[in-house]
Amino acid sequence: SVELPLPKRTRIFTVVNQKGGVGKTTTAVNLAAALAQGGARVLVLDLDPQGNASTALGIDHHADVVSTYDVLIEGEPLQSAIAVSPQSDRLQVVPSTIHLAGADLELAAMEQREHRLRKALDAYLSATSEPPHYIFIDCPPSLGLLTINAFTAATEVLLPIQCEYYALEGVSQLMDTIERIKAHLNPTLDLSTVLLTMFDGRTLLSRQVVDEVRKHFPEQTLDAIIPRSVRVSEAPGYGQTVIAYDPNSPGALSYREAAAEIARRGTA
Ligand code: ADP
Ligand code: MG
Repeated sequence: SVELPLPKRTRIFTVVNQKGGVGKTTTAVNLAAALAQGGARVLVLDLDPQGNASTALGIDHHADVVSTYDVLIEGEPLQSAIAVSPQSDRLQVVPSTIHLAGADLELAAMEQREHRLRKALDAYLSATSEPPHYIFIDCPPSLGLLTINAFTAATEVLLPIQCEYYALEGVSQLMDTIERIKAHLNPTLDLSTVLLTMFDGRTLLSRQVVDEVRKHFPEQTLDAIIPRSVRVSEAPGYGQTVIAYDPNSPGALSYREAAAEIARRGTA
């Protein structure tokens, strides 16, 4: 596999889109796996109570596992919640559990409620001798306090957009939210990366969405486009990313291309 350039400082991506089913989790885990394969140390934080990112990375997330819930709500050190993915020893995961389903409400009553993930990450990053090169935060499909914690902790926003009807629906609300986060919580947050997902080259619609998104986000949209592919959707059933499950499939190839672009952009 090809070695990718490594960033000097940890790049923290929050993978967000308040619509469900657009490819957030698939994107977070496959970019993470591709970057790890390219030589980077990568940490995935699962902030979705569904735990799909944990599943795809082969990590247990039954209710007793130490998880992002314990870090956010109980103040457990992030270090104590880290598991290593069987797919690569450079790929670490803080899983989520079902307890996270109530976390938005619990956070609402807490002090420093928007900053809890940021604090936990800062403490971890200053204590570890081998900080990750990349952190991907897989967000739930809402703009609640879990997602706000992710925005506050991140350096960059990665927006996956599905090549489907109403692709850009909700994007202006998301942009407003990011502006408010920048004004009040995280001034240097950068919507750096837009990735088109589930592209179907046979349909005019898919091609129209690509044009529309490139017009809307000319700087941010990656050249790589993720095709709709059954291998991508099968992989989590085996506790794997498509990078591990079928490395030569079109989905794996395009996620590796996207990862390489992200790596090059971050060191340019
Ligand atoms: P989100 O995290 O935004 O809810 P997911 O990543 O879970 O979205 O994707 C939604 C569904 O679509 C999942 O079943 C996933 O396996 C499937 N999927 C995601 N990307 C692709 C793709 N490129 N090709 C085929 N199926 C995909
Ligand atoms: Mg998801």
